[in-house]
Amino acid sequence: MQAIEIGSQCHVPAILPTATYAAAILPVTATLDLDDNLATLKAWRNCMISRDQLVSHIEDIFDGALSEIKIPFILYQGGSWRQRGCSTCGLSEKAKRNMERDFRSLRHDVVRHPTISLPLDSFCRKCKTEWTMYNRLIRDSIWNHLPAICGFDDWAAVDCAQKTADRGNS
Ligand SMILES: [Zn+2]
Repeated sequence: MQAIEIGSQCHVPAILPTATYAAAILPVTATLDLDDNLATLKAWRNCMISRDQLVSHIEDIFDGALSEIKIPFILYQGGSWRQRGCSTCGLSEKAKRNMERDFRSLRHDVVRHPTISLPLDSFCRKCKTEWTMYNRLIRDSIWNHLPAICGFDDWAAVDCAQKTADRGNS
């Protein structure tokens, strides 16, 4: 949260999205251990809002609301989520829920440590590739959403704001 304040107050917009992400994935209990000065309370409030926006985005991903992410498990058959074209591999409802919970709960830093609990070793090569790609797309989508949480259109806009700030700071 200090990084967010530094980014805002010292005109270093480039660190805002990653600092906001780092604050958003902090366990809520860890964020309560703060000095109650106004600046910190404001940072805490922003942290909670960011957390909420990040979780909403992840919900949109799993609801299939984002066109850039193709969900590979499209058939529910014989108690498993399967890919079209493969009748061998399947993801149980529980395994699917666990995987989604890993993202939703923000308990793992999925951007820096992309290992998500999936029984990939039991999958055929095609399914393994599809599921790995799906996980990568989810992570990319989360990463690409971070600027929006901080009020920027995208990473290019963050870059542009930093260049403008650099000109102002020099
Ligand atoms: Zn398969």
